[in-house]
Amino acid sequence: MHRESIKSAARIVVKLGTGVLTDSRKLIDPAQLEQLVAQVAALRRAGREVVLVTSGAVGAGMGALGYESRPAHLAEKQACAAVGQSRLMAAYDKLFSAHGLLVAQVLLTHDDLEHHERHLNARNTLVTLLDRGVVPIINENDAVSFTEIKFGDNDKLSALVASLLPADLLVILTTVDGVMEHFGQAHAKTIPVIEQIDAAIEGLAGGTTSDTAVGGMASKVQAAKIAVRSGIPLVIASGHKTDALARILAGEDEGTLFVAPPTRLQGRKRWIAFFHHPKGALFVDDGAKKALREAGKSLLPPGVARCEGDFVAGDVVRLCDLDGLEFARGIARAGSVAVRERTLSKEELVHRDDLVIL
Ligand code: GLU
Repeated sequence: MHRESIKSAARIVVKLGTGVLTDSRKLIDPAQLEQLVAQVAALRRAGREVVLVTSGAVGAGMGALGYESRPAHLAEKQACAAVGQSRLMAAYDKLFSAHGLLVAQVLLTHDDLEHHERHLNARNTLVTLLDRGVVPIINENDAVSFTEIKFGDNDKLSALVASLLPADLLVILTTVDGVMEHFGQAHAKTIPVIEQIDAAIEGLAGGTTSDTAVGGMASKVQAAKIAVRSGIPLVIASGHKTDALARILAGEDEGTLFVAPPTRLQGRKRWIAFFHHPKGALFVDDGAKKALREAGKSLLPPGVARCEGDFVAGDVVRLCDLDGLEFARGIARAGSVAVRERTLSKEELVHRDDLVIL
């Protein structure tokens, strides 16, 4: 039943992980890339728009520069990314042109999507490329991006790109069949549908032990939270199956589907909720939490028990309960100094219109 709505997805973000793009020697696997490109090209032929988010730049560069495992130093990783990215794009360009398709390289840093104008500008560029029938191929701009301005991993980047556009569907193709129960044991089994991302699901999702890959299942579940809250369903499936995308788009049981609610979060709210590295947090009492979550109210200064970090009016802050659990994000109308000095009147500190319950 949940799979039915996927069939009509017109705009799809497909993320390809390092593990599905490179071979055991950490070089780009040409046969693998060819079959993945063929799958994407088939979607384009069927009239669907596709944006690719690709990993594999660091991995491909490692192979080319002769590293056996991920180098420890940032500058070396960045050098690998710079070498690998051009190899990766050259391979994509050649393979897509055999299907009569143009590709475009788009390299992003977190900053590019955090500032509202740049955020809208990136969206316009991507939508224009899609209107022209091009397949945008996105990666993080690893050669210049360092911790503070990083997305973190490409699973998250793919969820943010889906949220930015917005897309109708996000598909993450990886080396396993989906989220597994009893992973690594004889009776391991793929969970076909996840309606609620709860502690049990998070418990099933581990990190990665790969030399080249980054996230593992844990980062995919974090990406799922962003996609689902944005209103976009996500499927995690195996990139080694040559009919994975076709089966997913035909509504078949392939991989793990994270179900999204029927309504999509409005664009500005998606930007507030997911595209910031918040500079501070407001810890609110139970009454205020309830008023925000259940009664759709704004946050008033008396509800704030504690304030952390340094922020100014206009910054996005985390809203946490007294146990430290983040349950919302919003734009503060006053800075941390005024909040701490308790000099604020009864005006809204975070207005309802600038607030998203997570
Ligand atoms: N941007 C990195 C790369 O292309 C991959 C990061 C990730 O896979 O999460 O190598």
